[in-house]
Amino acid sequence: MQSQTQSLLQRRYNTMGKYSPLFYEQPIHLARAEGVWMYDQQGNQFLDCYNNVPHVGHCHPAIVDAISRQMSTLNIHTRYLHENIVNYIERLTATFDNGLNAAMLTCSGSEANELALRMARFITGGKGIIVTDAAYHGNTEAVGELGTGFMPEAKLTKRVRSFPIPDTYRGLEGVHDEALKSAYLSHIQAAIEGFEDDGMGLAGMLICPDFANEGLLNIPDDFLKEAAQLVRNAGGLIIFDEVQAGFGRTGKHMWAHQWHDVVPDIVTLGKPMGNGFPLAGLVSNLDNVNAFSQHAMYFNTFGGTPVACAVGNAVLDVLEQENLLSNAVTTGEYVTRGLRALQDKYELIGDVRSLGMFFAVELVHDRITKTPATTIAKKIVNYLRNQGVLISTIGPHDSVLKIRPPMPFQPEHGDRLLHTLEQAFQTLIQDV
Ligand code: PMP
Repeated sequence: MQSQTQSLLQRRYNTMGKYSPLFYEQPIHLARAEGVWMYDQQGNQFLDCYNNVPHVGHCHPAIVDAISRQMSTLNIHTRYLHENIVNYIERLTATFDNGLNAAMLTCSGSEANELALRMARFITGGKGIIVTDAAYHGNTEAVGELGTGFMPEAKLTKRVRSFPIPDTYRGLEGVHDEALKSAYLSHIQAAIEGFEDDGMGLAGMLICPDFANEGLLNIPDDFLKEAAQLVRNAGGLIIFDEVQAGFGRTGKHMWAHQWHDVVPDIVTLGKPMGNGFPLAGLVSNLDNVNAFSQHAMYFNTFGGTPVACAVGNAVLDVLEQENLLSNAVTTGEYVTRGLRALQDKYELIGDVRSLGMFFAVELVHDRITKTPATTIAKKIVNYLRNQGVLISTIGPHDSVLKIRPPMPFQPEHGDRLLHTLEQAFQTLIQDV
């Protein structure tokens, strides 16, 4: 490690503590970025196959321009009238299905989910929220309670009940194929009854519609639709967390839940929304927004400022002008084919899943027992980093390679990723 980087790392430990998350055994000391590329202090180039925040590409000139033009004209909170916020919300909600026609803006996905919880609990009068057992939805105290996969708070609360991640690859012990969907649904039904029994009442179900943090799962057909029906029959709301999944990431649709035949009550948004500028929020029905905000005060100083909304608009412009959804479909299919070809060659790859420009490669020691190959997954991620290709791991066993590049990612970038992955398999498999 360069001495300048070593010293920065030490100063970081001294000021931020040792446990503030940091990627890679050899942390990267970044200097600048452009498109799908990032550069470190020495000028080394890294292909970004992981970050969904620079959604339309790192430092996209249209985004930089939108920020600087509005910042040099006016920036203030939303207690004044300004076209940008209304224009943006009109344009944003037009991408949703009927009924999802109003929005409240925040600065982070955590705040958006926090607001969704408040709204659902206020509207239903219930407290209980159903999530998966490998969930992450953010870092506030109430949202931390949902983080069954990651946060200690999740074990301490009676307001949250979880069901096993719906996963057609691993399934549930002893349950297969057709029976799988009913088995997962029966866990949801049990959660609903549990909330009734202990007097919590049901507020709703909050899930990521492509199960991004759970490992980008393939789920039984119609599972989301039937799960939503169960929850609604019991008086709960459906909240879809599109913080990772949204803004065209999955290619065919702007929103991941549009792959399923369910119109939710609330959708939460974040990460890609401002291409790195803090912009997040929720979309719901105007009646829900009015019912909630008439009685429960909500104001967010930095949420939805004229600058934030100028950025949001610019992101939507670039998505359209550069046809990034259709690129997610075509490049996504190309990369998926390459990953499947690797799966044919390497036993270690148990499953390849993808949705548009989002890929998951699940590593197992043995395709029959499906024992998670957690250590080798970590080695592969670090090997790739050292070869200038950035990915990470995810899933309940941290054994799934998570590949989620900025949307302008092209087939030639896919070739570099696939080639480097193959090198990693060839080099590291002997050590397994
Ligand atoms: N929801 C999901 C699905 C997420 O992955 C994250 C962040 N990883 C959040 C919510 C929280 O977003 P933020 O970090 O902007 O608070």
